Amino acid sequence: MRIEAVQGDITEQHVDAVVNAANTSLLGGGGVDGAIHRRGGGEILEACRRLRATDYPDGLPVGSAVATTAGELPAQWVIHTVGPTYSSSEDRSASLASCYRESLRVADSLGARSVAFPAVSTGVYRYPVEAAAEIAVAEVRATDSAVELVRFVLFDERTRSVFAEVLDRD
Ligand code: ADP
Repeated sequence: MRIEAVQGDITEQHVDAVVNAANTSLLGGGGVDGAIHRRGGGEILEACRRLRATDYPDGLPVGSAVATTAGELPAQWVIHTVGPTYSSSEDRSASLASCYRESLRVADSLGARSVAFPAVSTGVYRYPVEAAAEIAVAEVRATDSAVELVRFVLFDERTRSVFAEVLDRD
């Protein structure tokens, strides 16, 4: 598996699957979530509503992942995952690691060979970028998957450089 970190907008990635930093409701939000629904069109929201009506009446649990169409995005699928909100009093790293592991498991079930991840939980959910990058890289490396390319797509240069540094470390 090749792992890379680039600066960019995840909605523009030509990969098999892009991962959405969703929330439990699956019904849209700000940040990556807002951009994916805006650029991907209403088909994604419709698919999310169907998931809520069938498999996830109470919403998608933190650390889980589920796929929908990518609508009008260049990717084929959106894999929605729900990161933990950061807490200084409770270690939620296992939940964040689970987002990456479960997203790769879903990617495998779809037959996706290339997957783009945002820095899950580092926006509205306030996870410190350094800690989030370490968890993301370690978990992707530790996960046994048929995915050939994992691309971390970071919105700003500072976040990209933190991910790149963690990737270069060993
Ligand atoms: P969360 O609620 O999990 O924190 P956010 O979407 O608020 O998710 O933020 C996650 C990260 O994604 C942040 O670092 C944010 O800057 C970044 N981000 C926001 N929009 C995009 C985008 N279009 N492409 C890639 N990354 C984005």
